[in-house]
Formats: sequence, structure tokens, C-alpha cells
Amino acid sequence: MVMIVHGFPNNIAALQFEWAWQQPTLSTRLKIFPELKRKLAKESHFDYNFRILNRMLGVGPWHRLPLTVRWLETDYERDFDIPLPLHMQIVSGKVAITASQRHLRLESDSSNSISVWAPECHLCMERIEQPERSRLGCLNATCKLTCHMLCLANYLLGDQPGQYIPIRGVCPLCDAQLCWASLLQRKRLGMGVQEPQDNDDCDELSDVPDVDSDVETVEPDICELSDA
Ligand SMILES: [Zn+2]
Ligand SMILES: [Zn+2]
Repeated sequence: MVMIVHGFPNNIAALQFEWAWQQPTLSTRLKIFPELKRKLAKESHFDYNFRILNRMLGVGPWHRLPLTVRWLETDYERDFDIPLPLHMQIVSGKVAITASQRHLRLESDSSNSISVWAPECHLCMERIEQPERSRLGCLNATCKLTCHMLCLANYLLGDQPGQYIPIRGVCPLCDAQLCWASLLQRKRLGMGVQEPQDNDDCDELSDVPDVDSDVETVEPDICELSDA
């Protein structure tokens, strides 16, 4: 690891940034820069990524964020061709972890080591304990979004008062349009290995035999959705 960018207001903003950096040709913000489409003939992978980053830091929404570019390997340190917005910082050296942060990390490490590995939700950063049941991804195959079903439902709902089942929305990582019914349908067909076979009767309320408490609040209402 040569350099990191930090200072994002939340996990989602950081993940969106990371996704766009890795997929400049797909990102809606970067599509408008044809020069980012591919690596130049004599350009190294590092140079190419640095060029993308330089462009990203100058366009919305990122150019408004109080970001810090931190060089971890000073041998690689170099100037940006396009000057960064004045409120951004460029620094060198490792990130300092305070004593209290270190203590917190040790605590969580020891509690994590008891249970088996589980993926981490991109939205709440907690582990997804039963991924085969409660994990949802994105409809876009190139997007690595992984999150709790409930976290994604809450995210897609935003702050619509009185609603608790989303209809559609935009992926927090890649901006793809997500239809909640399609997400769940895909989960049932593809990843729902633990559930009994559900074919033509999948829209019936009775089709939810033994879901976990956290899934239960979501599943029955899908039927309302598909009837609508
Ligand atoms: Zn979550
Ligand atoms: Zn996505």
C-alpha cells in the first residue's frame, strides 16, 4: 500500500469513491473523461491509478470533501498534475492510532476471533452472520456491494415517513438502479439455498416458512409489492 485517501464523511462515501476509482469507465462521474478509459501505452498501473485519482479529486461530489491524501511510502511520493482543491491536504507517514482506538480494536479483535468468518456489511460495517439468508448484493455484476438485507432496505427507503419496505432506489456503491423485488427474487433463485424450493408459488404469503426474526419483517411485504 503506497497511499491512502481518508476523511470521508461516512462509509458509503468512501466506498463510492473506491468503486469509482476502480471502475472509472463505469462511474457516472468519470465517464465524461475519455482519457481515463484506459492505461496509456507506457504508463504503469500505479501511474494510471494516480492519474484517475487526480481527476477524481477535482470533480463532484469529491472535490467538496475535506479529504486527505496520505503517502505511506514516501519513495513513491509525487506531485499531482492538476492542483488539488485548497481544502484538501497532502501528508506523509503512517496513520497514528490513539491509545483509546487501539484499545477498542483489541477488544473487537478478541471477540471476533471466537466466531467463524463472516462478510462485513458495507452499510453498517458489522458482520453478516448468516450471509446465505440475510446478505444482499447489487444487480450490477461488476459491483461488489454486500450488505444486510435490512441495512439495504433502510438505505433505499431513505427517510420516507411511515414506509418500511422499499420499492426501488440506487445502489450505494455503483449508482445502478435497484428494484427491491428483483433483488429479493434474485436472492431466492440464486443464493437462497437453505430455503425449500419455491417456484410458481413464490408470491404467496405462506411461502415464508422459517425465516429469521431479522428477515421476517421484510419478507412478507414483498408479496404486497408484487401484487401492486
Ligand atoms: Zn448492515
Ligand atoms: Zn452496485
